[in-house]
Amino acid sequence: MSEPIIIVQHLFHTYQSGTISKDALIDINLEIARGSCTAVIGVTGSGKSTLVQHFNGLLRPTKGTVLVDGIDVGAKGVDLRMMRQRVGMLFQFPEGQLFERTIFADVAFGPQRMKLGRHEVRARVMAALETVGLPAHEYGGRSPFDLSGGQRRRVALAGVLAMLPTVLILDEPTVGLDADGRAEFYTYLRRVQDMQGVTIILVSHDMAEVAALADQLFVLHDGRMVLQGTPRSIFTESERLRQCGLVAPPLGELLSVLRTRGLAIPPDVFTLDEAFLWLRDALNVLHISKKE
Ligand code: ADP
Repeated sequence: MSEPIIIVQHLFHTYQSGTISKDALIDINLEIARGSCTAVIGVTGSGKSTLVQHFNGLLRPTKGTVLVDGIDVGAKGVDLRMMRQRVGMLFQFPEGQLFERTIFADVAFGPQRMKLGRHEVRARVMAALETVGLPAHEYGGRSPFDLSGGQRRRVALAGVLAMLPTVLILDEPTVGLDADGRAEFYTYLRRVQDMQGVTIILVSHDMAEVAALADQLFVLHDGRMVLQGTPRSIFTESERLRQCGLVAPPLGELLSVLRTRGLAIPPDVFTLDEAFLWLRDALNVLHISKKE
């Protein structure tokens, strides 16, 4: 693995309001590889948003360190403005923050604040809108409010992409979208992944949805990291996932039930294709032994 872009060591976060305190993160340790896609999974209140807000300095550690691209985000004197350009964050329901008259102006807002030249801003806006499937020549002059919910969310994504972040964090990016809107959003996110080489961090309570995209999963429960690894390895832990209020995707769940019922399905059988191949071979063996 190349030098990780994010390294978190013994991170604790406690929210304090008056005399009440809440330990939202307890001794979190993790690494994220540059250019990878990571999903942070857990039920509501498990600490997902708290964790990712440390990656661009929106929150400071109560204890522990967070290094992003070699910079200690919690250190005094860190340039948080620069940090937030490098680590772009798409919050939940980001379309609620669109406010300009045209889509072009909305996407240009971030780069303009970076005080880039007019040509550079224009080039970035055009590229970002192209990436999210809303080409500027067709959509740039229209109002964001003429678009569907899914399209508006893609405009918001373009606004973050136009700042050319090194790390892109998406907090529950498809919540509230219908099935088509969700599928569409992930299609464009895949494009971002392929085209820009950016490190993507997805926050979700739905692991089935993000599994196809993620190289690694972090599972949080009550502020602790309870599982981390590839989707393939984590989906075999269906009992542990259930204890955290999560369910593996249906195929993973089915394979897991069959395994606990005594079928010797190898642990590396994971996708539908692999399951079919295994089943075909298993049935062949059965067929032959019956003939004998
Ligand atoms: P998730 O993103 O997984 O839903 P959060 O990180 O939002 O979880 O919250 C983790 C815990 O911290 C929850 O118990 C939540 O109620 C608490 N929490 C979150 N934000 C605050 C806050 N600003 N003040 C006090 N407690 C908070």
